[in-house]
Amino acid sequence: MFCRLLPTSPATLLLLLIILAVTAPQALAQDELDESDEPTVEVIEDEEVEDIEDSIPRRHEVKPTLEKHRATDTTSQEKAVQKPARQQKPLKIAPNINLKEVAPPPEPEMPRTAEVEEPIAVEEPTPVPEPVAASISLFGTEILPGTSTRLSWSPGIQIASLSQPTPILVVNGVHPGPALCLVGAIHGDELNGIEIIRRVLYDLNPQELSGQVIGIPIVNLQGFQQGSRYLPDRRDLNRHFPGRARGHLADRFAHALFDGAIRHCDMLVDIHTGSFRRTNLPQLRADMNIPEVADFTRGFDRIAVVHSSGAPGMLRNAAVNIGITAVTMEAGESSRIQEHQIKAGVNSIHSLMEKYNMISRLFSWGDPEPVYYDTYWIRTEYGGILSNRISLGDRVFKGQLLGIVTDPITNAQHRIKAQDSGRVIGMAVDQVVMSGFAAYHIGAEAKIPERN
Ligand SMILES: [Zn+2]
Repeated sequence: MFCRLLPTSPATLLLLLIILAVTAPQALAQDELDESDEPTVEVIEDEEVEDIEDSIPRRHEVKPTLEKHRATDTTSQEKAVQKPARQQKPLKIAPNINLKEVAPPPEPEMPRTAEVEEPIAVEEPTPVPEPVAASISLFGTEILPGTSTRLSWSPGIQIASLSQPTPILVVNGVHPGPALCLVGAIHGDELNGIEIIRRVLYDLNPQELSGQVIGIPIVNLQGFQQGSRYLPDRRDLNRHFPGRARGHLADRFAHALFDGAIRHCDMLVDIHTGSFRRTNLPQLRADMNIPEVADFTRGFDRIAVVHSSGAPGMLRNAAVNIGITAVTMEAGESSRIQEHQIKAGVNSIHSLMEKYNMISRLFSWGDPEPVYYDTYWIRTEYGGILSNRISLGDRVFKGQLLGIVTDPITNAQHRIKAQDSGRVIGMAVDQVVMSGFAAYHIGAEAKIPERN
C-alpha cells in the first residue's frame, strides 16, 4: 500500500516520515533486547521427561575427554597458585566456626554483597600440624585449611536494603584434596536436597577432611520462601547457567553463583526432586557419554543412574563445559521432606567422598555399586483422575497395570500398562492429569559403557 501511495502523495510521504520518526527508536530498542527476554513464563518440564527422552542413547564411542581447565591431579596448592587473582583488595580471613553449633538468627539488615556472618563462637585457629592444604577464597573471603565457616552470598538482584543473603557452608580440610560442591534448591520448592546438604556439611570435621566441601543448601531463596520452583521473574534458574553479568534477572543470578562459587569446584552434585507432583527414586542424571562423568557415577553407592544429556542452561551442563565433573541427583518429590530419600542421598554422598579419599569411615557397603538404567516414560493418553496401582521402586512386568485414569464426569476408566519390564524409578503421585502428562518412568537395568 505504501508503495502505491508514496509517489502520488507528498502529504502522505510527510506523514510516513513523521510515523517513522516516532516509531524508529522503539523498534531499535526492541532490536537491542535479547530474544531470551521475550518470554516471561517458561513452561518447561523438569529434566526427567523431555530431556531424558531426547538424550541420545549411551554409546561405546564416547565423547572426547573433558577439557579440563585445570589438570585433574592438580593439588589444591597448585590450583590456588594457578587461579588468577580475582580480588584486588586483600582477602578477609573467614572465622573458624564450629558448624555443629547452632547459628544465630540473621541480622535484619544485610549487605548487598557477600560478607561473612558474625561468628557465634570464634575459636582460635587450631594449630595444624604441617599444613599442606591450600586456603580457598570465595566471595572475597579466605578460608584457611583446617577450618569451617559460614559465608553469605547475595545474587544482587534485590533491593539492596531488603536483600537476604543465601548461606554457604564451607569446610576446608586440613589435608589437600578435591573441591566438592553440593547445591540444593535451585528450584525453590525442592526441599530434600537442603536437608541432605545440611547433614553432610555439619557432619564433617575439617581436621579429618581431605579437600574442600562447599555446600549451598538454598540457592533460590526467594522461590524457597514462596514455595515456588521459579525465580521472582518466573524463569527456571536451571535453564540459564552459566549466566551473563548483564543479562536478565535469571542470567545475572546464574552468573553470580557460577562465577562466585561454582568455578571453584572440581566435582559438583546438584540436588533436585521430581517436579509437578512426580516423585523420584534417589537417582543420578548424568551424561554417560562423557567418560569422566561416567567414572564419577561409580563413586555413588546404591543409587540409580539414568543417562541424560540434559538441557542447555542446566547447572551440570554448564559445569561440565568448564571441566567440572558434575551430575544431578534427584531424590523424592517437591515440597516435602522425606527421610528415606534424604538418608539415601546422604549415604551416596558419603560414599562418594570416601571413594575420592576425602573422608575415611570404613563404611561397609551392602551393595556398593550404582545401578544403571535405560529408561522410558509412559504418558497418560486421557485426562482425568490418576489413581496408581504400583509404588515407587516396584519392579513391574510388561503389560502390568500401573494405574487408572478416570474421567470424573463420564466415569470412563482408562488403564495404563507397562510397555516393558523394569523398575519404577519415577512416577506421578495420585492427582488430576491432562492428556500427555508423563506419569511413569520405567527403567531396565543396563551396563555402563566401557571406556575405550
Ligand atoms: Zn529441580
